[in-house]
Amino acid sequence: MEEKVFIALGSNEGDRELNLLRAVAEIGRLAGTRITALSHFYDTEPVGPVPQGNFLNAVARLETSLDPHGLLAALQRIETEVFRRKRTVHWGPRIMDLDILFYGDLHISGDDLVVPHPRLHERRFVLEPLAELAPDLLHPLLGKKMRELLDGLGGTGKVVRIQEAVS
Ligand code: ATP
Ligand code: CA
Ligand code: CA
Repeated sequence: MEEKVFIALGSNEGDRELNLLRAVAEIGRLAGTRITALSHFYDTEPVGPVPQGNFLNAVARLETSLDPHGLLAALQRIETEVFRRKRTVHWGPRIMDLDILFYGDLHISGDDLVVPHPRLHERRFVLEPLAELAPDLLHPLLGKKMRELLDGLGGTGKVVRIQEAVS
C-alpha cells in the first residue's frame, strides 16, 4: 500500500540549489516512490550551537510503497553515496540532510527512527515549507495544523523564501 510521506531536505555546503534538485531527482527514482509536490526553496539561518553557513531548505511530499525503515535506509544511502556526506560534527554543516517528517499517520518511536520527526514543530525552516504544501495537515500527536504550529512559533532563525524575479 502506498503512504503519503513528507521529507525535509537541507544543504549548506557546495551548490545548495543543485544539491536540493539532485536529491529530489534521486528520491523520485526510488523503487515504488513518486514525488507529488515540492515546496519553494528557503534560505535559512542555521539554528543551534554550531556556527556555519545558511542552509537552503525545502519539503517534498511523496507517495511510497517503501516501509518507514526501508525509506530511511534509502534516504541515508542518498546522503552518503550520492552526496558523500561524512557524519562528523553533530548538527554541523552538511551537503545533504534528509529527514522523514511524517509517514502517513504512523507513530514510530525507535532507536534509529522517530516519526513524526520530534523537532519539526520547533523549526521554522521546516514549518514554513511544510505549511506551504500542507497548511491543514494535522500533527497526529500535537493535534494542531501546520499553519497553527507555524503561527505559534517564536522568533527562531530567519527563513526567507527564494522569490522569483518580478518582471
Ligand atoms: P535532527 O534529527 O535534529 O534534525 P540531524 O538531522 O542532524 O538532527 P543526523 O545526524 O542526520 O541528525 O541523523 C541522526 C540519526 O537520526 C540518523 O542516523 C537516524 O537514524 C535518526 N533518525 C531518527 N528519526 C529520524 C527521522 N524521522 N528521519 C531521519 N533520521 C532520523
Ligand atoms: Ca535534520
Ligand atoms: Ca538527518
